[in-house]
Amino acid sequence: MTEPVPQDGAGVPDALQRLWTPHRLAYVQASKPDEGCPFCNAPSQSDEDTLVLARGESVYALLNLYPYNPGHLMVVPYRHVADYTDLTPEETVELARFTQRAMAVVREVSSAHGFNIGMNQGVIAGAGIAAHLHQHVVPRWGGDANFMPIIGHTKVLPQLLTETRKLLANAW
Ligand SMILES: [Zn+2]
Repeated sequence: MTEPVPQDGAGVPDALQRLWTPHRLAYVQASKPDEGCPFCNAPSQSDEDTLVLARGESVYALLNLYPYNPGHLMVVPYRHVADYTDLTPEETVELARFTQRAMAVVREVSSAHGFNIGMNQGVIAGAGIAAHLHQHVVPRWGGDANFMPIIGHTKVLPQLLTETRKLLANAW
């Protein structure tokens, strides 16, 4: 079982803080220490290799390599910006529209009961890749919180992610 991870300045840990704790965040397959920003690198590679689901004009969506739940994806601007206020109006709109589309697609494919949607802004808030803004879309099912510690310690099988990517990309 995983113990709740205390976070500086965050007070008493709760379920939400555990959901987005930094040490499990948001590394994509392309991420290597010497290769720069994974969110900048992913779009230049194949969708299959980087688990990209859909590409827009100014943002794209990709699966999280270390999902909290099946279908956990991220909406990311192509531009390397850290802060939500750095987005242009066009990027802001497309990020929102992609988030809506992601919800519709995940619902259609998996009948999710609910979602956690949000961004960690800054390392202190738990952002794993703080320099490049990314919006998490995490599908939720009734009772899934009971499985979080198990999921957190389960090795993610690449084939499952590949299958999930195919399902969602086709539905997008
Ligand atoms: Zn970047």
